[in-house]
Amino acid sequence: MKVKLVIIIIAIVLVVPIVTVLALDYAFQNTMYVPSLLPVAPEELPEEINIYEIEPEIPYEEPEEPEIVEPEVPEEPFIDPGYVLLRMSYSDISRGSLILINHEHAFVFPDEGQSDVISIFDYITDSLGVTTEHTGLSASIIGPLNSMMEAFYEETGVSNIVIRSAYRSLADQRHIFDQTVRRWGRTGALAWAKPPGHSEHHSGLAFDFGRRVGGQIEMFSGTGNLAWMPRNSHNFGFILRYPNNRTAITGTNFEPWHYRYVGIPHASIMRQNNWVLEEYLERIRNYTVDEPLLFTFNDIEYEIYFTTELEIRLPYDIGFNISGNNIDGFIVTIWRGLTEACMIDCFEVEEEQSSGYSS
Ligand SMILES: [Zn+2]
Repeated sequence: MKVKLVIIIIAIVLVVPIVTVLALDYAFQNTMYVPSLLPVAPEELPEEINIYEIEPEIPYEEPEEPEIVEPEVPEEPFIDPGYVLLRMSYSDISRGSLILINHEHAFVFPDEGQSDVISIFDYITDSLGVTTEHTGLSASIIGPLNSMMEAFYEETGVSNIVIRSAYRSLADQRHIFDQTVRRWGRTGALAWAKPPGHSEHHSGLAFDFGRRVGGQIEMFSGTGNLAWMPRNSHNFGFILRYPNNRTAITGTNFEPWHYRYVGIPHASIMRQNNWVLEEYLERIRNYTVDEPLLFTFNDIEYEIYFTTELEIRLPYDIGFNISGNNIDGFIVTIWRGLTEACMIDCFEVEEEQSSGYSS
């Protein structure tokens, strides 16, 4: 019994300190490596936003009923490859650079706001003068007119040419006609002046040249240096409208000062054939879309024909010009090799082309 007791005591004495040491060591290790909880600098926090302040007040609105638009279903057009279809209106017969205005055919004045007549004062070059700031012409002819006058000045050195009469209203023409009647009597007046409505001056396509000499405006005779004009104006689309010895057809005495724009190449065809506008418009009636008049001008081939159709079919990718005759139909002019309709500008294009071809 005593021996057993001794063994137990010895065991207790040996085991208890070992267990105690191990327990303390474990506790010591776990306490040593606990990281210290240092205070952390607070991150910058955004300012508090008062959402009640910035939220916009949105008034309540009844939502609108959306409009229901029926989509337009286009009619299937007949597509003719390589052609475009132009639809003219009957009133277009009275528009264009080839309209005939004479004793038989009155000018049809365009509706208010539709006229293209502008004051040319700010647009003309130094090679031409005007007698009043209100001198008006069709905007379409100012380019060709400037080109013609620059060429005229370069080749003649004459710098005192003015336009002494251009666009005239009905009232202007009435005043001029009444004055002429008072001077010549009615029959005599008709050979010089047109009754109101029948003057080319209404269109803005015609004008009278004069010469400024010592503060006076003198007549444009078309002789001497000035003979350049009747000889060369056709190159720019202008004609001497009332030539000598053609009164029987034009109904108007020789007027060396009165020029009219008809366009290229019509002015040249008329000059080459010695036709006045009345004759040209009569001849052109014989030419059709299938058998057009062919004319080469400055290396450009033109096809010209007459039609009374209001629908005009044109080849795609050509230059073209359509003018009414102010009687019953249209003169169609087309030219190939140019993509944009041009009149006087064709000179420049043609020059570039020909210099390219010659190399
Ligand atoms: Zn005139």
